[in-house]
Amino acid sequence: MSIAQNITEIQKEIDRYQVKLVAVTKNQSTSAMLEAINAGITAVGENRVQEMMTKYPEIQAAGKLVEWHLIGHLQTNKVRLAVPMAHLIHSVDSERLAMEIDKVAGKLGKRQDVLLQINIADEDSKFGAEPGQALSLARVISQLEHTRLCGLMTIAPFSENPEAVRPVFKELNQLFNEIKALNLSNTEISWLSMGMTNDYMVAIEEGANLVRIGTGIFGARQY
Ligand SMILES: *Cc1c(COP(=O)(O)O)cnc(C)c1O
Repeated sequence: MSIAQNITEIQKEIDRYQVKLVAVTKNQSTSAMLEAINAGITAVGENRVQEMMTKYPEIQAAGKLVEWHLIGHLQTNKVRLAVPMAHLIHSVDSERLAMEIDKVAGKLGKRQDVLLQINIADEDSKFGAEPGQALSLARVISQLEHTRLCGLMTIAPFSENPEAVRPVFKELNQLFNEIKALNLSNTEISWLSMGMTNDYMVAIEEGANLVRIGTGIFGARQY
């Protein structure tokens, strides 16, 4: 199936849930991205700042306005490059990173929307904050003037059987509701970013309202 057909199929499946679809474009060419944008994609997700910096001006030059989501690990020394482009940074996992984002956003006169990335039970990943740190990190971010906490993100460990990761999504949803219930000032806890090609329907059933899909749209990535 073509990129456009894949998007139509996925949209059909998720439309009744009012879920935002972010097309994960890492390792995809600008022309594949344009194909997706022409087929209705309004938000793209990149893993690496460097790659985003190459493609961002190319997509702009083509006259396409899309939201750029940074979904991969962000090093503090790349923050000054990422913030000018990013609509939403999904991968905030430390106080230090949040403070750096705030500093850069302040200089740019921007308020940067961010999600806290939580590592629920993925022993292989070194990224993402511990669930036990989530509430205190949320409090810290709520104190920052140029950064707005908008929700949570997680990457579930890969499993052939998406049912196996349902508890991961359940736990993130619980944490999401806890943070929302804090009613912290200067926050807008609205996005629960979870679910990828292999598990997005399970994620949606567990409350995701933003899914990040790469392979399901573009086919297998070439590295
Ligand atoms: C690559 C990636 C995705 C998309 O994965 P697919 O399985 O290709 O849909 C989603 N989120 C993050 C953080 C990723 O790195």
